[in-house]
Amino acid sequence: MIIPLLKGLATTLKMAFSKPITLQYPEEKREVSQRWRGHPELTINDDGGRRCVACTLCMVVCPSNAIKAIVADEAEDHGKYPVAFTIDLQRCIFCGFCQEACPKGAIKLNRLYELAQYDKKLLILDIEGATQSKSQLRLGDWL
Ligand code: SF4
Ligand code: SF4
Repeated sequence: MIIPLLKGLATTLKMAFSKPITLQYPEEKREVSQRWRGHPELTINDDGGRRCVACTLCMVVCPSNAIKAIVADEAEDHGKYPVAFTIDLQRCIFCGFCQEACPKGAIKLNRLYELAQYDKKLLILDIEGATQSKSQLRLGDWL
């Protein structure tokens, strides 16, 4: 009778002083794996310019038609760049095909995971919302 009781007490004490495996979410965030696939975003160069050359390969390869409305313009040096670019996160299945297809490394899946929104329209990213420095959809921003 007393042995099982002591065993139980020992287990309780052991767990009481061990590192907790739960987090106080949302105050504490879990570090996700390097391989985590968040949502696609347009990457930028050091000068802040987008790498995208509006070739539309990512749009063609996307299996769920989540990338739409890539509108290209031409710079003075005849280089192309996008003036419109839409990523619909309601359709995205986070497969990473767009990242693999892009010849410029201009679209990459980030490591964000708090994508829930009350307003579905916020999940349709325009070119500004889809650009790296600004694509920070986080729970804390809209609570
Ligand atoms: S991750 Fe997949 S589904 Fe999402 S935009 Fe890229 S290709 Fe489309
Ligand atoms: S993100 Fe890459 S694949 Fe998509 S249009 Fe721009 S350069 Fe082309």
